[in-house]
Amino acid sequence: MRWSWKVATIAGIPIRIHATFFLLLAWLAWAARGGGLREVLGTMGFILAAFACIVLHEFGHALMGRRFGVVTKDITLLPIGGVARLDRMPRRPPEEVAVALAGPAVNVAIAAVLLLFMHLSPGVYDFGDPLLYQRSFVAPLFLWNLLMAAFNLIPAFPMDGGRVLRALLAMRLDYVRATRIAANVGRGIALLFGILGVLWNPMLILIALFVFLGAGQESAFVQMRTEIPQSGS
Ligand code: ZN
Repeated sequence: MRWSWKVATIAGIPIRIHATFFLLLAWLAWAARGGGLREVLGTMGFILAAFACIVLHEFGHALMGRRFGVVTKDITLLPIGGVARLDRMPRRPPEEVAVALAGPAVNVAIAAVLLLFMHLSPGVYDFGDPLLYQRSFVAPLFLWNLLMAAFNLIPAFPMDGGRVLRALLAMRLDYVRATRIAANVGRGIALLFGILGVLWNPMLILIALFVFLGAGQESAFVQMRTEIPQSGS
């Protein structure tokens, strides 16, 4: 990806950070400046921890893919999340389900560890305190991982849930048809998000647009892949 720099290589996979990610950090630091240095550092620390969880999510996909011979070229951090560039998706549906679910499973595991940690720290985390999620560091990180798992399991491309849905359909239908149906379900969900966004929260309109465009892209990509060999024969 252009405008991104390699910052580390873990398990043989280069981790890259896109330039716009630093803009996000700068913008958040600027927004938190009213609270002083403590607030700025607290915000930075939380964002870095939240994005570390995103990297671990992508590693879930990458390492599960490796078990099926899929090579991950790199993992890039963007302000909107992470992208793991897998050279292909395994075509056997159970393997695709495993690769897609491995990401959200990592977030569920992190959330479980954080919940255990909070329960084993008596007197520190009062779950009845409505300000718990503002005051502490661990509690919002726990919530963040739950949200990541839930959001990515929405059955719409480009979310992991869209891949799970496609793979489940592909167990009974041919791959292109399964992709087309999954993409249409994704567009339907995007439309629903759009309507909710107009009524409730404009952020949802952005998500709707993201999902709507992603649904079309996945559909076009797989059709291209399946049509090229036929044209040569
Ligand atoms: Zn994922």
